Amino acid sequence: MKFVDEYRSGESVGEYCRALAEITTQPWTIMEICGGQTHSIVKHGIQEMIPPELTLLHGPGCPVCVTPMELIDHAVHIASLSNVIFCSFGDMLRVPGSEKDLFSVKAKGGDVRIVLSPMEALEIAKEFPEKEVVFFAIGFETTAPANAMAIHQARQENLKNISFLVSQVIVPPAMRTILEFPDNRVQGFLAAGHVCTIMGTQEYEPLAREFQIPIVVTGFEPLDIVQGIYMCVRQLEAGCAQVENQYSRAVKKEGNLAAQKLIEEVFQIVPQKWRGVGEIAQSGLGLKNSYSAFDASTRFLLESRRCEIDSPCISGEVLMGIKKPDECTAFGTSCTPDSPFGATMVSSEGACSAYFRYKRVAP
Ligand code: SF4
Repeated sequence: MKFVDEYRSGESVGEYCRALAEITTQPWTIMEICGGQTHSIVKHGIQEMIPPELTLLHGPGCPVCVTPMELIDHAVHIASLSNVIFCSFGDMLRVPGSEKDLFSVKAKGGDVRIVLSPMEALEIAKEFPEKEVVFFAIGFETTAPANAMAIHQARQENLKNISFLVSQVIVPPAMRTILEFPDNRVQGFLAAGHVCTIMGTQEYEPLAREFQIPIVVTGFEPLDIVQGIYMCVRQLEAGCAQVENQYSRAVKKEGNLAAQKLIEEVFQIVPQKWRGVGEIAQSGLGLKNSYSAFDASTRFLLESRRCEIDSPCISGEVLMGIKKPDECTAFGTSCTPDSPFGATMVSSEGACSAYFRYKRVAP
């Protein structure tokens, strides 16, 4: 398949690994932002193929993983109400809240439905006008246009029985937080290609300049990843700190302007809590006042509260690249995909899940 097969070629990956070995003269630490990239790295054994001087850290780019526990508790509360149809992407159902997950609500008879897009929730709202339909609108910049479209459409169609529980996060403020950690180890980033198809590459330039760090927008196939690492190391070795685009077959510098316009129409920048990390300034998208009628948190009068549970889970440190999943004492023993403590083990994009599926050493 064009644009896929050639990016899975073992021969081309091998060539880039050899080229990397030729240009690497010292240790460098690079973080891939997206969970999809993490899975590709772990699944294809890329860390083991590149020169041993290069360390890859796994970043926070898994939307399921960073959705705060408080929001899961709110979702569980709403989904348990008798007149509600709660619609969500499937990955969210097993993410643990402080006491329950959405799956347990569904198992007890709650009307929790897995949908593939927010527009499906609109259709359900039209089909069941006597019910309150709620869509769990989570994700990074990649899901924001579809969520914005659904909210905009709901207003256009004057739908009164649908609302959205919003937990939209944006990438650059999280990168800034990582770089501002006193013990930050990240010297270069592989930025998430799909986020940049929406937002373009320009918003990374201030970060590259301020922190003097190379940022390479990278795709998700094995060749994309090793090319991205090569471009990043080439900059590091030359003392450069620029934004480069490895994923030019999908990403334009300006991004998708129509999608950005839709996001701006519906959302505004807000502070946002990240699971295991805490609040990051200006790192979320909340509904604008003109769309507040569709805000599930006001419609269901949800109150903000602290959710803390006693758990060995270090997913916050995993998401920020401070620790790797196999440094967690619960990894693969008390915490497994069948019995997960943290969202990074639940999500198909989570780093702990990737290590469990592809990297676990049999006891
Ligand atoms: S292995 Fe489980 S407990 Fe440990 S960090 Fe990952 S999700 Fe949390």
